[in-house]
Amino acid sequence: MFNFELSERRKLIKDMAAKFAEKEILPVRDKFEEDYAEGKYVDKILLEAAKIGLLGFPIEEKYGGSNGNNIDVMVILEELAAVDGGMATVIGDTWFAMTPIIMAANEEQRERFLRPLASREEANVGAICMTEPPSGADIEDPRMKLRTCRTIVKEEGDDLVINGTKIWPSNAGIAYLYVVVGTVDPDLGEEGSCLVVVEKDRDGLSFGKPEPKMGMHADRNSEVIFDNVRVPRANMLGNVGDGAKILHRTLTYNRLGGGMISVGIARGAFEYALGYCKDRVVGGKPLIQHSLISAMFADMAMNIDAARLMVYRSAWANTKRHPHRDRFSNMAKVFATNMAMQVTTQCVQVMGSYGYSKEYPVEKYMRDAKIVQIFLGPNELLVQLIGASL
Ligand SMILES: Cc1cc2nc3c(=O)[nH]c(=O)nc-3n(C[C@H](O)[C@H](O)[C@H](O)COP(=O)(O)OP(=O)(O)OC[C@H]3O[C@@H](n4cnc5c(N)ncnc54)[C@H](O)[C@@H]3O)c2cc1C
Repeated sequence: MFNFELSERRKLIKDMAAKFAEKEILPVRDKFEEDYAEGKYVDKILLEAAKIGLLGFPIEEKYGGSNGNNIDVMVILEELAAVDGGMATVIGDTWFAMTPIIMAANEEQRERFLRPLASREEANVGAICMTEPPSGADIEDPRMKLRTCRTIVKEEGDDLVINGTKIWPSNAGIAYLYVVVGTVDPDLGEEGSCLVVVEKDRDGLSFGKPEPKMGMHADRNSEVIFDNVRVPRANMLGNVGDGAKILHRTLTYNRLGGGMISVGIARGAFEYALGYCKDRVVGGKPLIQHSLISAMFADMAMNIDAARLMVYRSAWANTKRHPHRDRFSNMAKVFATNMAMQVTTQCVQVMGSYGYSKEYPVEKYMRDAKIVQIFLGPNELLVQLIGASL
């Protein structure tokens, strides 16, 4: 019944992603921080990603994609994040934005929105706009039913007019389209909730300056401002009243991606620190031969493995529509992100001041790890949802 081996197809996918990360991302990942606002290195990588079909990977073949399911994309995310968590976030968030379209769009919308996202000529990334300046976690909390959402969608004839401000979406300012979480009236809760797709060139859509931040510099984040943005009613996914449900199904499907990004980040730091500790001589022998240090690595290896297994179990549950898939996804995200914070901190520790130095990559892995405990639902929220589901 259990098979812990990747299929031949998934081995090829893993190999493709690992080679891509090594060839395109590794040589320039140290430049992402200084180039954060402009993102010229990231844009070049995204074009290469589009060319090999990575950006459109989860999209059905009939719209130009590769039919990747939830397990396939987890395989890719680990390999990208092992080199750079920010690049994994940029590509993973494009898949995140596709999910509500794949789940809830009608045929005309799929053709209009998914085909460009699967382009192999242009790097068309996606963004999903949930968070607002006064309300982040609450918008992702299914118990709040989008009552704190202040992005207002007004129905005017055959059009929708959007007003409000989002903050932090990954790929802000560079996305081809924005999936916007809104409401016709916050007091209606779920009944007023809706998701609307806004294409990048709509009048009234503008962006704040890039938000300065601690890590994940491949990912551009800023305010996304909707000032009387008018789109056809045909840009709504489902109907008014469906938004909260689609959003929470989307989150279940993607939250474990935060878990796999964390597995990759932890693995990247672990592999680097392990190599270092095999060479670095302290007290007359390589660090790794000190039993205390060896035990730390054993502990890290066990926890990385456990987190990966939880993510795969969750991905499997998503593909099977398992009744506990919400819980499995939340569990994988919380466990893996906490694990990555712990592992990357230990990697800095065992490398001493070199671990803390910007000349070595582990301090960056540690900074990147921190945000994944917060985005895609802060862990404090998710443990409550896990508890409530038991
Ligand atoms: C690099 C990056 C990428 C991002 N990508 C996206 C994106 O693509 N789209 C998007 O919409 N947003 C994105 N975000 C925003 C992110 O999802 C939010 O910041 C996150 O949901 C938390 O919201 P907040 O910052 O408003 O914190 P708040 O909601 O103010 O929460 C603050 C803290 O309170 C605690 N807390 C929250 N809820 C509860 C609760 N119910 N019970 C107890 N404690 C609680 C947690 O410790 C939490 O960290 C991104 C942010 C970053 C930095």
